[in-house]
Amino acid sequence: MSREPTFENALAFAGDLIRIPSMSGEEGEVAARLREEMRVLGFDRVEVDGLGSVAGVVKGRGDAPPVMLSCHLDVVAEGAHEEWEHPPFCGDVVDGHLHGRGAMDIKGPMALQVYAAAALANRAPGDVIVGQVVYEERGGWGMEHLVRSGLVNPAAVIIGESTYGDIALGHRGRAQLEVVIRGLASHASAPDRARNALDLLPGVLTGVTALARRQESDPVLGPASLAPTDVRVRPESPNVIPDEVIVVLDWRILPTDTEASLIGRVKDAIAEVLPDVPAGYAIECRLASERQTSYTGRSADRNLLTPGFLMEPDHAVVTAAAGAVGRRGAPDTAARCRPWTFATDGGWTCGVFGIPTIGFAPGEERYAHTNRERLDVEEARWAFSRYPSLILAVQEAAAKKS
Ligand SMILES: [Zn+2]
Repeated sequence: MSREPTFENALAFAGDLIRIPSMSGEEGEVAARLREEMRVLGFDRVEVDGLGSVAGVVKGRGDAPPVMLSCHLDVVAEGAHEEWEHPPFCGDVVDGHLHGRGAMDIKGPMALQVYAAAALANRAPGDVIVGQVVYEERGGWGMEHLVRSGLVNPAAVIIGESTYGDIALGHRGRAQLEVVIRGLASHASAPDRARNALDLLPGVLTGVTALARRQESDPVLGPASLAPTDVRVRPESPNVIPDEVIVVLDWRILPTDTEASLIGRVKDAIAEVLPDVPAGYAIECRLASERQTSYTGRSADRNLLTPGFLMEPDHAVVTAAAGAVGRRGAPDTAARCRPWTFATDGGWTCGVFGIPTIGFAPGEERYAHTNRERLDVEEARWAFSRYPSLILAVQEAAAKKS
């Protein structure tokens, strides 16, 4: 059995993918559908790692280092179905747009990547890997695991998060931190016996607010930003004096930030306001974490830190990509290069593993994670037509670099 790698077939495949819901940790069925399509399209190898991420390989004509195209298998929750103009899992094309959860983030671009790779069979200077990973929407466990596992070893990565036809160079990262204030609980009728953890909340918030006002800035990515977003009080009982208060911080970070530097800065900022923590109290600062379980049955406590990354605008992979894609309507002009506003798995591939990474995909950012999610079919057709030149140019540039 075989299938022609045409745009029409890719669009039909995207509709099939949208019709399979796949929240993080529930990507098994969509992964199976993807493997089936890769087989029908004649991929030379299709492998699955321990977390259930899928890596298909299309052999090249030579032995240039492999390039990897990557999207993710998971999507965010669709919310109330009646709020959608088109049902969230319809995958229909109406009025020139593909509709549904994942249309542009990210099942539409995923289908284009799979078909673009298949169309390059035995034509690229080296292997083309299509790595579609789990758990991207919850911080990138899938990509971290796929690269660490050694199942793939790409010399460059092309991420299929929407760029509206531009070349994306990087993005800020995100860290979720917690400041934990500990005291001593007691019955609310006897405050003398307690160390009320809420007593230190104003000092902690004052320190955090001062830190938020002095954030560093990157000339391309813009400033980091820090905001307290939640306060949790334990125990949650109005007639008990709490012994624990957790202040949650959302921090949009720069690529140079690390777990240690972030925690150190929060500690210092609080110490400026509260130089001596009163007897009977303690203040701890840590990265937030959550338990994640893959559809293959593996569990881990994951720190909520998605790294950022930034490629130099004159890096050979960036200029090759921009030249190969060109501007829609002006193919002789290089594509615009800019950062994404949101975070992607490029934070892992480039920010952590140092693999040159760029982004290219159709789709407008404003529709991502909304109940109006859609992909313009003509824009997708244009992006599909640009993928072969893009892959070849990136692979050649990466081969020269390495
Ligand atoms: Zn996405």
